[in-house]
Amino acid sequence: MAIRNVRTEGEDVLRMICKPVSEVNDGTRRLIGDMYDTMYATDGVGLAAPQIGVVKRIVVIDDREGHKFALINPKITAKSGTQRSCEGCLSLPGYRGEVDRPQEVTVEALDEYGEPITLHAKDFLAVICCHELDHLDGILYKDLAVNYERV
Ligand code: ZN
Repeated sequence: MAIRNVRTEGEDVLRMICKPVSEVNDGTRRLIGDMYDTMYATDGVGLAAPQIGVVKRIVVIDDREGHKFALINPKITAKSGTQRSCEGCLSLPGYRGEVDRPQEVTVEALDEYGEPITLHAKDFLAVICCHELDHLDGILYKDLAVNYERV
């Protein structure tokens, strides 16, 4: 496993629509291992594949409160409520902004072994899920932020 370079704003890969993963295999799991390594090395709570230059629908999340998982081809299938919170992004270093997100989301995905999983996330975990899934469609939180400022 390895720590990869995190791509920052201005690089085209952050604005691409990522491709679904058609087969979950050892290569997928190696990529996910690198994504975890990179996320932990940069002290993040989530990382999407395009942030390391890979145009695939994969994210890893660890909210540091016991919720750690890789999501392959994730889709939000239900959402409710709203919350506003401060977000940052490894790809937008030195900035932060407040974003309105659902209070709760249901996410369906495959895990790193290709098994279907359903995740019910709320509060901070819901924010992370929304933020990371947006990356797979080329959306950065600054696009949605009600304010965006240098830290
Ligand atoms: Zn981000």
